Amino acid sequence: MLVIVTLVAGRMGMMGEKGSWAAEAAAGKARKQNQPVVVIDSGHGGNDPGKIGVSGQEEKAINLKIAMKLKAYLEAADIKVVMTRESDKGLYRESDSHKKSADMKERCRIIDNAKPVLAISIHQNSYHQDSISGAQMFYYKNSEKGRQLAETLQKRFDYILGADGNRRSAKANDSYYLLLNVKAPIVIAECGFLSNPAEAAKLSEEEYQDRIAWTLHMGILQYINDVEK
Ligand SMILES: [Zn+2]
Repeated sequence: MLVIVTLVAGRMGMMGEKGSWAAEAAAGKARKQNQPVVVIDSGHGGNDPGKIGVSGQEEKAINLKIAMKLKAYLEAADIKVVMTRESDKGLYRESDSHKKSADMKERCRIIDNAKPVLAISIHQNSYHQDSISGAQMFYYKNSEKGRQLAETLQKRFDYILGADGNRRSAKANDSYYLLLNVKAPIVIAECGFLSNPAEAAKLSEEEYQDRIAWTLHMGILQYINDVEK
């Protein structure tokens, strides 16, 4: 964000003699042109509900709620946001015979086209033991920037889970489709476990979804300032 502020100040200085409206317009344009782009991928959608919570919650709906809140926070911080979906729709056509693979390819295409500084894919987890809870960030094992982004976001979950509750580390992965195929640094954010009754209940609450979105946005801004500026 510091880069943007400096550029805007520079443009305004140069344009000062031509009148303030022109300077402001030029500064606004410069700022827009230098806006970092972030893609938010809301996992699943349409005929794919994702994980089903202990009380019947569908992962796809929780993912979208968090994704839309995250979009608002990032836009308020002058980030240009591209969404892979903004409604309960999968990214496949009804005529596609392999809908899941068509859906994943389309997500990759949207992310690569946007040429973002980073992408984040929002998901919720599930496990056969209902005592398991907490958040975990995944990154592609050979991506140094992906690792930095994942570790920054993971650490931020202290705010939600407490330092004692946020016991997991960001984890390398070499098999998730998006991690393998997206060119930009990307993290899969598993925000919590729908198989844990207490966590599933929280994940369904507007206020908790908002805290997660706030936390992810703070981590993203920190990463952009530390790594991409
Ligand atoms: Zn998922």
